[in-house]
Amino acid sequence: MESPNVPDAPKRILLVKYGEVALRQGNRAFYEKQIMDDIKRRIKDLHGGNIRVYREQGRFLIEDTEGDIDADAVLPRIRNIFGAIAFCDGIKTTTRTIEGIKEAALGFFRGRMRGTSFKVDTKRADKRFPLTSNETSAAIGEYLLDNMPEARVDLHNPSTVLRVEIRNHVYFYVDAVSGEGGLPYGSAGKGILLLSGGIDSPVAGYLAAKRGVGLIPVYFHSPPYVSERVVDKVNDLLRALGAYTGNLPLRIVPFTETQLFLQENIPAEKLTIMLKRAMLKIASAIAAREKAHCLITGDAVGQVASQTLHSLAAVNSAASLPILRPLTAMDKHQIIEIAKRIGTYDISIRPYDDCCTLFVAKHPENKPNTQVIERMESRLTEGALAGLINGAVSGAVINM
Ligand code: ATP
Ligand code: MG
Repeated sequence: MESPNVPDAPKRILLVKYGEVALRQGNRAFYEKQIMDDIKRRIKDLHGGNIRVYREQGRFLIEDTEGDIDADAVLPRIRNIFGAIAFCDGIKTTTRTIEGIKEAALGFFRGRMRGTSFKVDTKRADKRFPLTSNETSAAIGEYLLDNMPEARVDLHNPSTVLRVEIRNHVYFYVDAVSGEGGLPYGSAGKGILLLSGGIDSPVAGYLAAKRGVGLIPVYFHSPPYVSERVVDKVNDLLRALGAYTGNLPLRIVPFTETQLFLQENIPAEKLTIMLKRAMLKIASAIAAREKAHCLITGDAVGQVASQTLHSLAAVNSAASLPILRPLTAMDKHQIIEIAKRIGTYDISIRPYDDCCTLFVAKHPENKPNTQVIERMESRLTEGALAGLINGAVSGAVINM
């Protein structure tokens, strides 16, 4: 057992920093619990189940109750967790004396210093500790200099920084792996992600999820005009996103009949807008059923004819919830950069047609008039369209 007089030997731990979450006083405990539960869930089977995750003044600590943590095994499991900003592979000591701290610092830092110069940076969260942060850094620095003759101190441009954090325990680390940041997954509520097999919508889903939106992915499928392989592709995209969010079951909406009906009854140059409106109506109905708070699409202003401001205005009124468009102001190359980083790009560029590329007109309207579109649509809604849309909503199946 820990005792203030007989410090345990230093032990390898992982220290997790979380950012913005800590600033939100009102919800802080809620956010912290979400991140901590997520960490626990992802690593509970490692270390023979001897994992302990706890919190000390604005940090999470992960340790093996029986020994050292294996950062190489733990880190890949948790580094995608939204809300975490950095992971530090370090040690923990239970000593409270400056002598003990100096000793532990030396033991840890020897062999970890890169280059020839260093600096000690101390954070004292526990104000009961008798030395200030600067005094602690100076005392440790001096001790390291005495015992590591090859090292010198450089406060302005050190080749290695030894970080010391004085909390309930004392922690030391050198390197930090950066995390995703953002807000804990699901903490903002839920949204219906309109996920095609393209490059954009998975990135939009990732960005919304990063702001805490839980994703309910919906794909509009039009067999036999679109191959079943697109479903595989969308499922593969969800597996990639799942590294951030956990398992994401896909809702597949049967869209063929609606699509054929609109194709027959709408002038070609207005078809894409009408199809998008139908998708948004169906997605809104699914959102109501799933108690979701928004829809999410991969639109970016001006990327294609259906994404001009006029076109976005003409589709918006079909949705009964706010539409999040996280890519609104991004250039394609920025979107591609994110897609590559999150592992969706290579899947998205597999060459299968999705329903919109198959049915697009050669010269789609890029300045549709919302009133004209709505009038045209309401005539069809009085006819067969309402039934087709209801049928698509009730025909949506979860593909596990
Ligand atoms: P993406 O790269 O995401 O396919 P895009 O640039 O090809 O987008 P569109 O095909 O106009 O653009 O689609 C715009 C958005 O509409 C998509 O980002 C997606 O959110 C949604 N969407 C389009 N087709 C489908 C579909 N078959 N199923 C679900 N959502 C779709
Ligand atoms: Mg597309």
